[in-house]
Amino acid sequence: MTDLAQRILDAIGETERIARDACGVAWTDSVTAMIHVDPAVIRDNKLAYGHLGFVASTDRSSLGDAYRRHIARNDPDTVLRRCAADRRVLSRHTTGAISLMADGRERGRLCPADHRRMPCPDLLDLADSYGITEEDSHG
Ligand SMILES: [Zn+2]
Repeated sequence: MTDLAQRILDAIGETERIARDACGVAWTDSVTAMIHVDPAVIRDNKLAYGHLGFVASTDRSSLGDAYRRHIARNDPDTVLRRCAADRRVLSRHTTGAISLMADGRERGRLCPADHRRMPCPDLLDLADSYGITEEDSHG
């Protein structure tokens, strides 16, 4: 595994841990300008100790509405699904990378998914989505 792939994997893992610490479930956006954990999962022990499902509230302005919708659309359940998809993308673009050999020495690698030189554009885009910049990505 390349350094870039490991950094992406570490970032995915950290994102998953944070989402699980935030109960790892769906949140709902309500007309009362509050975001709650989905009532169907409030039976979880973690939620039983004082949280009662409350996540956040906003004012009723259009900006508050936008904040609330944004927060609800990035709930832990959604984040965990995105992380699972990102793990699949990372695996497709790293597992079985093809070594380019010359003079008996490796002269780079090709992505097993798109056969472009590593790190391929999809891997760089995935890195970017976790705040890993291109100048950090060569290695
Ligand atoms: Zn690729």
